[in-house]
Amino acid sequence: MHEAVIAQSLLEVISQEARKQDAKPVAAKVSCGELNAINDEVLAFAFEAISRETVCEGMTLQVEHKPMQARCGQCGQTFAFRLSEARCPHCGKEDFELLPDAPLVLEEIEFDKE
Ligand SMILES: [Zn+2]
Repeated sequence: MHEAVIAQSLLEVISQEARKQDAKPVAAKVSCGELNAINDEVLAFAFEAISRETVCEGMTLQVEHKPMQARCGQCGQTFAFRLSEARCPHCGKEDFELLPDAPLVLEEIEFDKE
């Protein structure tokens, strides 16, 4: 239950931020790499379960999956890697290395501002 651990840490960070801002969080956006196999629905469910009766209750969580990034060995550009088109979109060469998968990041929290 990878997602339960993530939900727990998100809840902690968001609750802390809510206290600082003295506002109720309504939505949050997280992003992670493609290989970080997070199931959006499982995460949303886990978050909903643990956020009950906290300041985070009723929040919506949005997960953005970032594609793998690769760097071209010829022109040095980085680009979103697609298996169906395994070549540099800038110079067309097939000489590139895959970059590490993006970590899980809490991108933004939306607060209900009155
Ligand atoms: Zn290139």
